[in-house]
Amino acid sequence: MRCWICGEEGNTGEHLIKASDLRYYFGDITNKEPVYFQKGEKSWEMQSANSKYVKSEAKICNSCNSNKTQPYDKDWEILSKYMQNNHSRLLSNGKIKISNVFPGRKSEAMLNVHLYFCKLFGCRLAAEDTPLHLEPFKSSINGTKPCANLYIEFGSWDISNKFAGITSIQALEVNGRPAVVFWFYIIGRVAVYVSYIKKLEITRLKKNCWHPSSITKDVSFRKFNT
Ligand SMILES: [Zn+2]
Repeated sequence: MRCWICGEEGNTGEHLIKASDLRYYFGDITNKEPVYFQKGEKSWEMQSANSKYVKSEAKICNSCNSNKTQPYDKDWEILSKYMQNNHSRLLSNGKIKISNVFPGRKSEAMLNVHLYFCKLFGCRLAAEDTPLHLEPFKSSINGTKPCANLYIEFGSWDISNKFAGITSIQALEVNGRPAVVFWFYIIGRVAVYVSYIKKLEITRLKKNCWHPSSITKDVSFRKFNT
């Protein structure tokens, strides 16, 4: 299978939930301490952070996996740990002060976080039947530039059992047409709402969401479910 980013021979299935997130939140995942991974309506018992169930069926090549997208992975890892460690405070403040997470490199690091979710969204589009084209995702990653329609939001996920997962890709219609295509990335009590907004002129679709074009110092952190 070809790498969906550059078209070279693809050899890796990207983790749909990052291995470092799994290890950080759950500790060692073994067959004695399995963790549930949920994808859409289905769930599987993972016996390691590298379980095949957690990897995308779409492939990317070694070069895209390392040189091109590793900075995205690293900055997401920093933000993800920060949200896990400061969960209650962030929830009571309703926001994350980005300069506390990435002192001195706020814009560059947050663009990397945006591109991390651009990569994951692309992996899902390349493997699943969805109403979106891959092209904008591909060109953002190849050009290290923001994807105009991709907005993300951070928040808290209320869980009864410890699990990690991604929700099914859904579309919300406005006047009978898809206006936003979205899903959630969930790692224990922290979640990310990942949305591709087709109708950017409808401002309520972007409420609380973050995009690299925004110059705000804070990003929202709210309760997604109760
Ligand atoms: Zn590639």
